[in-house]
Order: sequence, then C-alpha cells, then structure tokens
Amino acid sequence: MMTTDSLGLYVHIPFCVRKCNYCDFCSFPYSGAAWRDEYISALCSEIRSYSHKKIRLNSIFFGGGTPSLLTSDEFCSIFAAIQDTFEISPGCEFTVEANPKTLSKENLDAFRKCGVNRLSIGLQSIHENELKKLGRIHNFEEFLDSYNLARSFGFNNINIDLMYGIPEQTIDSFRETLKTVHDLSPTHISVYGLIIEEGTPFYKSLDSLTLPNEDIECEMYYLAADFLKANGYSHYEISNYSRPGYECRHNLKYWRCDEYIGVGLAAYSYFGSRRYGNTNDPRVYLQRDGAKYEYDEVIGLTDAAYEYAMLGLRLAEGFSLSDYRKRFGEDFYQSRSEIIDSFIREGYLLIENDRIFLTERGFYVSNAILTELI
Ligand code: SF4
Repeated sequence: MMTTDSLGLYVHIPFCVRKCNYCDFCSFPYSGAAWRDEYISALCSEIRSYSHKKIRLNSIFFGGGTPSLLTSDEFCSIFAAIQDTFEISPGCEFTVEANPKTLSKENLDAFRKCGVNRLSIGLQSIHENELKKLGRIHNFEEFLDSYNLARSFGFNNINIDLMYGIPEQTIDSFRETLKTVHDLSPTHISVYGLIIEEGTPFYKSLDSLTLPNEDIECEMYYLAADFLKANGYSHYEISNYSRPGYECRHNLKYWRCDEYIGVGLAAYSYFGSRRYGNTNDPRVYLQRDGAKYEYDEVIGLTDAAYEYAMLGLRLAEGFSLSDYRKRFGEDFYQSRSEIIDSFIREGYLLIENDRIFLTERGFYVSNAILTELI
C-alpha cells in the first residue's frame, strides 16, 4: 500500500482551567470534567481508526482548549496512539498549545520525550488590567515563569499569542506589550484582533465594555506590522509573524489547502478530497461509533477553487495563478480582471511573477476584499 506523505495531524484537547470572556472555541472548564478519561480513550480510538491507511506525518499540532493541562500520562498515552498509527517523519514539526501556569517540569519533560519541538503560549497582553478583562488565568510574571521554564527545557521554537482591541487597551499599552515580547526573542508571534463572538460573556456585556474604536484598532494593527517587520519578523500571514524559517508548518497546510487530519471534539479533516468533521457536543462525541462524522462532504471543484483562493490570499506569498489554472481549469485573473485591477490601483493587491497576493494595506481589510473578489 502506498504511504500518504507529509500530512498534518491536529489533536483537539477541549479542557481549560476556566472559560475566557471572549472565547467561543470548543473548550470546557476541566475541573468537574468527569468525562476526561472517557474523552482521552475516545480520542485514542479515533486516532487508531487511521491505522490501516499508512500515513506519514510531518506536522502534529495539539490545540484546544489547553493541551498543557493534560497530565504527563495522558499526553504520553495520546502520543503512543499516534506513534502506533502513523509514521512520523524525521524532523516532524510537533506543536503543543500551552497557557501560562499550566506548564510544569513534569509536562515539559513528557513533551520533550515525545518529540514536541514547538510550543505556542497564549499571553495576549503584558498588562494586568487587560488580562483581567479578558478573563485570563495568569498575569505577566506567571507567563514569564512558564516561558523561562520552557526555555530551560530546551524549547527554543516558541510562539507567543498576542491580542489587540482588548477593552481598556491603548496604543501605548499595546506598544509596550509588543516591545516586551520582542525582547524575549520568540521565533514566532501571532497577533489577533479581538472579535466579540456571540454567546460569550463579552457579547453579553458589550454595552459596558470600553473597547478601542476602529481607528485605534487600525493603528494597533499597523503598529504590530511595522514594529515586528522592523525587528526581523516576516509578516507571512494576516495574523502571524515569524523569524525566517520558523513559519508554522502545520498552519501553512491549512492556508495552502494541503491535506490534514483532525481528531477530537469539533476537529475537521481535509483528506482524500473529503472534508469531514466531528461534533462539538461531548456527549455525542463520546458515543461516537467508529468513523461517524457529523459533517462529511466530497469537496467539488467550485468549492475547492473558492477555498484555495480564499485561504491562499491570507498568506503574504498569495497563490500561483498558473497553479490555480492547472488545478481548476479557470483563469483567476481573466474571470475577475476589472475588480483585481481596481484593487491593484488602490494598493490592496499585487500580481508579481505569476503570484497574486494582498499588500500590507490589503491584509488589514482582507475580509472586505476577499468578499468582493471571490
Ligand atoms: S485558554 Fe484559550 S481555549 Fe481556553 S478558554 Fe481561554 S481562549 Fe478559550
């Protein structure tokens, strides 16, 4: 049987210490999660359901939730299921998402032994008032302890997540966050704008939140882009910056429409021209029988073309027009030349050496541009 090469594996760990005020991810407070053991065994059997397929992985990503809440034994048992099921390429990028205060000598040691070589730590802000507003479980000192502990265990490839548009945040406080984080020399920094999602505590108390206005948010976006680029980070995706060579291999697969497998609650896969995904209801997931997915669809050419363009334009590299033509039998430029030319004239888009991509200016208003374009 042929080996399917270079796939990414996403593993969803849906437990957090408590819910942050802005969070609409599929995660649950874990104290009281009586179903924790059950979840891990359901997850391991879902992983093992791929054992007949001969798949080689070159990226593994434990996300959540807070995967660093797993005990060493839990983490190692999930990894054992992965190791039994898949072939792992030498040099496989292996990321674990972590939150400050949940990293310990024990779990860092287990991560190392299982081959984890990249951590992604959620900080969001260095300022106590902003962290409190967000409902984070940590302050900056606690983040620093976790960061330094991880470094002392040899983790040198670390992403730090930051946020702008936080209630009470100012341009100055955001600048201070950027500078302080830059001084720690992480290899990768993600900077997300706060979105108030329906159903979150923030959504319910929207009227009482002191949010930075749109102009200030825009200034914060450009502040991050200008500061990080001036300090050696490449702005390779709308919300992501890296030192050269440290782009997240796993996430690049999503944006380049490469195949990946997702396991666990609410996880989606794109594999064998199918997009399929699990429920976000723990009760349903735990009773999941074999390979039963809540959503399972063969991706048609039209949808595949839409996704390819939509996701590719999130990257600074954009996508290749000739590759698009080869894959989908359509000329992307010819079929929308008028609107593309007008975006080029306005400084939002560029076409160079067969690639079409958004400019920095285009990145900031990408949603509006992509809606008109695709
Ligand atoms: S730590 Fe992350 S996943 Fe967990 S509640 Fe906060 S934002 Fe959501």
